[in-house]
Amino acid sequence: ARRTSEDPLVFFDPNEDLAARDRQFLKSELRAAIGNGALILHFQPQLAADGTAVAFEALVRWNHPTRGMIGPVDFIPLAEEDDTIVKMSEWILRGACREAASWENPLRVAVNLSPLHFRSGNLPGTVQAILEETGLAPDRLELEITEGVMVQDFEQAMSMLRKLRDVGVRIALDDFGTGYSSLSYLQAFPLSTLKIDRSFTENLGRVEQSAAIIRSVVGLGHALGLEVAAEGVESQEQLDFLIAEGCDLVQGYFTGRPADIDAFRRLTGRDIVQ
Ligand code: C2E
Ligand code: CA
Ligand code: CA
Ligand code: CA
Repeated sequence: ARRTSEDPLVFFDPNEDLAARDRQFLKSELRAAIGNGALILHFQPQLAADGTAVAFEALVRWNHPTRGMIGPVDFIPLAEEDDTIVKMSEWILRGACREAASWENPLRVAVNLSPLHFRSGNLPGTVQAILEETGLAPDRLELEITEGVMVQDFEQAMSMLRKLRDVGVRIALDDFGTGYSSLSYLQAFPLSTLKIDRSFTENLGRVEQSAAIIRSVVGLGHALGLEVAAEGVESQEQLDFLIAEGCDLVQGYFTGRPADIDAFRRLTGRDIVQ
């Protein structure tokens, strides 16, 4: 049997040690990747009911020299182990704002915020500085937060959201319906958009209740004066249902996969946002 750390004769577990060293190495590579061109942003369109693009969500990828393209779910947790996430988030924010500022049409750009970055005290100042530096109007930036940040420390979250709203940016509540937000949070926080989680869209036509849930969330969002977006739209049927139910924005592989912004330019032969 394999000896465990409870075994008094074992001073280290060679397997665990290797894994930890591997992790450390990957993390140092990740830190180096910030700003050396290996981190890249893809953009996915968010469309209005008439099919026109309203916004693009920035989604980060790591083009690793030997491991290939790594998705955010595989390296963001690594970055969140220390302040790498703050450096990385600032790079993403700056890149997304710079990109959006170059578009001919004043479409919005949405940027995901790590809960750790959200809790770092100077976030409003950083956002303001990046907007000034890139020349992007504040209302063209939407920050996507998840329900977790609101639950952890209500007072802190409230004060952070107020400061961000003072800067003039929009706030979207991402993955709505999967976390712990209560109706009182929804009422209290200065949000702009509710993003219905992909799982509800996915279950349309499969799980009977998902249609009722989506219908209710659209009604709830609108009653609170919020825009409602649905993500994970993968079929015509889902799209038709969401539009019929009054979703303001749709996003998904069916309406547009995340892609390098140059791909959108090639697709249209002109600036994506003309
Ligand atoms: P998310 O914010 O919910 O982003 C949507 C994810 O769903 C993206 O995965 C997107 O590629 C994928 N997606 C879009 N349409 C469809 C669809 O129709 N079907 C399916 N099955 N998936 C779809 P991605 O890019 O792998 O990102 C995963 C998560 O990583 C994001 O979930 C977000 O939480 C996080 N993330 C991505 N970019 C960033 C970033 O720049 N900063 C931070 N902090 N987190 C990020
Ligand atoms: Ca998101
Ligand atoms: Ca989401
Ligand atoms: Ca998600």
